[in-house]
Amino acid sequence: MGIAEKLPEGNIITTSLDTVLNWARTSSLWYMLFGLACCAIELMATGAARFDFDRFGMMFRASPRQSDLMIVAGTVTKKMAPRIRRLWEQMAEPRYVIAMGGCAISGGPFYDSYSVVKGVDEVIPVDVYLPGCPPRPEALLHACIKLREKIRKETIATKKHNVEATKQ
Ligand code: SF4
Repeated sequence: MGIAEKLPEGNIITTSLDTVLNWARTSSLWYMLFGLACCAIELMATGAARFDFDRFGMMFRASPRQSDLMIVAGTVTKKMAPRIRRLWEQMAEPRYVIAMGGCAISGGPFYDSYSVVKGVDEVIPVDVYLPGCPPRPEALLHACIKLREKIRKETIATKKHNVEATKQ
């Protein structure tokens, strides 16, 4: 007896493993409880009731082991950069990064400071760049929608991140 004969009406749905995995990943992006400077205030606002991150299946996790999204919200100092790298390495794959705000993208107002990294992509690979100083919660939600679109195009046939491929 085939599977189709066991189902009501004899119907069966077929799909690809990529579609199922990507659907699951886009529906449960758990971001790390982590903020570096003033952009983190907007990140917190996005997670609160008014903007309601949860409706995307997005919840913060206090451990990198349980997170698959790092939202780098704030100024990346040279002192903090190795810690960011360590946290990113502790996240389970596939892992994603949103650079939130001018500081995380390029150093922002502190681009010529001796102590600030000129973009977090010098430390870890970035999937979505979100400009602003700071970006509003609506913009962060839009960045997450863009990330979900990107994830939907992924395939398990290719490895997402190669640690050696990053700049550091
Ligand atoms: S981009 Fe602007 S708001 Fe965001 S951390 Fe830098 S100075 Fe603060």
